Amino acid sequence: MSIDFDDITTHDQSDDCVACRAQDIVGYSLVPAVATWEESYQLPRHALAVHGAAGLMAYMIQSGAGRDEVERAVAKVLDDYEAQAADDGLLNVPPQGTA
Ligand SMILES: [Zn+2]
Repeated sequence: MSIDFDDITTHDQSDDCVACRAQDIVGYSLVPAVATWEESYQLPRHALAVHGAAGLMAYMIQSGAGRDEVERAVAKVLDDYEAQAADDGLLNVPPQGTA
């Protein structure tokens, strides 16, 4: 199975951008569900997140993707998340001089 990682990790600036839609699903559904599962199974915080992410990557590798390209794709998306968080942080800075 060949995976076009650029196709699924690059924002295309369209209304139905694959990267944005996937990130929305992760943010609104997957992240809260994982936090709830960790709590209900009394697992340390982020235990399921780490193993879940690795398990999904292992599934991609078992499906024929190379580990290097999977790691590169995940690193690219992590960079994207960090850049977004930095942008959001700038937007959330309280106005100065109002205290
Ligand atoms: Zn996008």
